[in-house]
Amino acid sequence: MAEIKHVYVTYNDIHNIIRNACPKIAADFNPDLMIAIGGGGYFPARVMRTFLRGSTDNKTLRIQAIGLSLYEPLEGTTAEQIGREVIRTQWLGPNAGKLLLGKRNLIVDEVDDSRTTLSYALSELQKDVEEEILNHPESEREALRKATKFAIFVVHNKVTRPKMAGIPAGVLYFAGAEVNDVWVEYPWEASDIEAHDQLAAADRASLVR
Ligand code: 5GP
Repeated sequence: MAEIKHVYVTYNDIHNIIRNACPKIAADFNPDLMIAIGGGGYFPARVMRTFLRGSTDNKTLRIQAIGLSLYEPLEGTTAEQIGREVIRTQWLGPNAGKLLLGKRNLIVDEVDDSRTTLSYALSELQKDVEEEILNHPESEREALRKATKFAIFVVHNKVTRPKMAGIPAGVLYFAGAEVNDVWVEYPWEASDIEAHDQLAAADRASLVR
């Protein structure tokens, strides 16, 4: 298997990618709630909240966290290869459906590789909403379903990676930057941030704009 190229990005790169993405997200979706997929979605969601609070009338926009991890069921697979099973390490609690119902919910993660994690998050959150809808009279259900919206934001989308699943109709998809099939090295995983930033300076040119 050919060795995959590693591309280093800095906190500032990520901050600016998010800043540039926010006007469109505010105009096209204007979320009521952000759902950060941990751990990679936490920092992007927090930065995004600053820009969205600044550009929309939603000054109380909040972030909820979920934890998901891709399990590699095949022996010998590495973190750089595609896993198949998603494990929940943290969820929204017993009132998940109530929390999401009737809102424009923006799911935030750092990278879309195979889309396994995002598809899982989206379908499980939609299941929570469906369960909650059943607590309401039948006559109200269609309106509640329509009022509950989901969108996805990722800092990096790997354009050359075949996706395991598509984005369902009605779900907006925003990517801050598109990258080739590389392994993105994020600053929060670095133990030596200065060395990381030096590698990032050398790498910037290889990102697809
Ligand atoms: P998925 O294949 O489900 O889209 O991605 C699963 C997870 O693998 C991501 O949330 C992320 O944590 C990790 N991942 C995938 N591609 C990369 C990458 O290029 N760099 C890093 N640091 N993590 C990645």
